[in-house]
Amino acid sequence: MHLPKLQNFRQIESIRQCPLCHYSQSNRLIDLEYALFDDSPIDSRMHLSACGHCGFVFYDTVSKEDDFRNFYSNHYFIHAYYSVSHDYQSDTECYSDIAQLLKNYGLSSTSRIVDVGCGKGQLIRSLKHYGFDNITGIELCQDYVKGLKAEGMEAYLGSALDMPIRKEEADLLIYKHIFEHFYDLHSAAKAAYEHIAPGGYLFVAVPDAAFYNSCKEYSSLHYLTIEHINHFDLHHIESLFGTYGLKLENSVTRMLDISEDYPVPIMSCLFSKPINPEAVELKPNFELAENMIHWLETSDSLSNKELENLQKSQREIFVWGLSYRTAMYLAMSPLKDCNIKAFIDIDPRKQEKTLLNKNVISPDILNSLNDDITIVIGVGPSSRAMMEQLRNQGFKGDIIRLL
Ligand SMILES: [Zn+2]
Repeated sequence: MHLPKLQNFRQIESIRQCPLCHYSQSNRLIDLEYALFDDSPIDSRMHLSACGHCGFVFYDTVSKEDDFRNFYSNHYFIHAYYSVSHDYQSDTECYSDIAQLLKNYGLSSTSRIVDVGCGKGQLIRSLKHYGFDNITGIELCQDYVKGLKAEGMEAYLGSALDMPIRKEEADLLIYKHIFEHFYDLHSAAKAAYEHIAPGGYLFVAVPDAAFYNSCKEYSSLHYLTIEHINHFDLHHIESLFGTYGLKLENSVTRMLDISEDYPVPIMSCLFSKPINPEAVELKPNFELAENMIHWLETSDSLSNKELENLQKSQREIFVWGLSYRTAMYLAMSPLKDCNIKAFIDIDPRKQEKTLLNKNVISPDILNSLNDDITIVIGVGPSSRAMMEQLRNQGFKGDIIRLL
């Protein structure tokens, strides 16, 4: 890839305004594409862009806020079906660090803590274990809320923009791995500000884009997944909440590896809401944008020898495991031009879909495949187990596991 330096880019009119400063012109760094199910409400192309005014790195896209809402409500199939719900080692360590951090800042068993986008409640359960008793979760997914209530925990149906709690109720609001997904950052940040009590805190965890190039096995391209439409570094996340007078107290970035193969740099930030908050003016910073250009220039892309050979030979293959990272390979690597017979996935919701006009079938078919077939295992935390399963059942054909 040969990308010009940022100062040589011609700024163009963005389709999506900068979500941080609302400036309408941006530098388009690279066009990305993903293979999404044929009925996907969001567009399969994302344009990695750097705001011409503040330097924030985000996806410019024709998809609008409603399209993303539809996507997350009806088309976002992750995590629900792999293994039983259990905590990964790296998660457990991370929760213990969060508990310690909160104690250091004076939060206690009676502090009102709200986890926004709590999912299945792993963090809530863990913080309860560390003595934080007055804790509740807010979650979009009805099933998760039901599950938490059945466990005797406090949980409400709601979202970051529609919080079922009183203004200034929370001593601490937690947003773990959700700000990178928001189309409208300021509405979410403003709602957060309004629901924190004066003197209270905000804990935010997002991928740290400043570290997208710090893992030897992966190029920064691997971290540009479709759902992360905002790519924060410390400067820009501090700027977002600084607009509302929230003050950065603590931040740390560590590589978290839940799948034992794919470490993701996660930045955890604690902000305080002063009794008299003073808004801070947004300062431009293009360091991440400049770095991103350099990284993408030197990136070795998503290709590898095995995929190139498959493409050349046009052998018939099955692709097993349709994660969003597999979707990158299916659109941006030689896999897109391979002779794919069908897709395989254990999630029955995906089996109702088509992808690239091909069917998605149940893994039951794996019991009856001939050994002259090649199986490409998609990217995901279960991929090692999937490979073992194939070997255990005596499959002798070629297996390629994507990383
Ligand atoms: Zn901007």
